[in-house]
Amino acid sequence: MTERLYHSDSYLREFQAVVTAADPAVRAVVLDRTAFYPGGGGQPCDFGTLAVGGVTWPVVRTRKAGEEVEHFLGGETPLPQAGTALTGSLDWPRRYRLMRTHTAMHILCGVVFRDFGALVTGGDMDLQQARMDFEFESMSRDLVEGIEQSINLEVEKNRPIRVKVFPREEAFQIPDLIRTKVNLLPPGIPEVRTVEIVGLDLQADGGTHVQATGEVGRIHIVDYKSKGKINKRLYVELE
Ligand SMILES: [Zn+2]
Repeated sequence: MTERLYHSDSYLREFQAVVTAADPAVRAVVLDRTAFYPGGGGQPCDFGTLAVGGVTWPVVRTRKAGEEVEHFLGGETPLPQAGTALTGSLDWPRRYRLMRTHTAMHILCGVVFRDFGALVTGGDMDLQQARMDFEFESMSRDLVEGIEQSINLEVEKNRPIRVKVFPREEAFQIPDLIRTKVNLLPPGIPEVRTVEIVGLDLQADGGTHVQATGEVGRIHIVDYKSKGKINKRLYVELE
């Protein structure tokens, strides 16, 4: 099992770990602990490096594999063997931008639910842009501009963001979590991690976020599209 350091400290960009398994056929290693986010919930995986004794491997992809996180290494250098202690470093500009973008999506989600009662039906993000789909019957330029103003007001308020872990049964008792479909979580999961933008949004979420909404900076809704009768898509970019 890989301890997920990013769950408790999303600002950790360098860490020490020990290789627990190495698969030369696919050039992947598993570590006992990692700060590399393996992707999920719309947030892409992290890149970076693993290094020991003057040898550095680029981490070109990471992936969840059951309870473990696989780190795929580029280059030709033979993989570090099981038992090797090494240093992991994230491509921090990439990760930090994804943290800000992910948080921007939660701000949007919270505002659209608060002001219109509209639920999210999907979302995705890359380094440049994020998109979110909402149950909305009609969308207009005016409406989009209003939403853009409201989300940026939430950025200016610099609301704190809190991460907590609840036992599964306790999480089911939180009314606000029901709308984020906490009841659809796989039955094997004993704990539920929540990300709360205090006073605005609460989600069951495994992703990495900034500490306060002010860190996101100005958010632009750059486009919108109809994706069916009751689905409208908003495209978001950070400054
Ligand atoms: Zn999220």
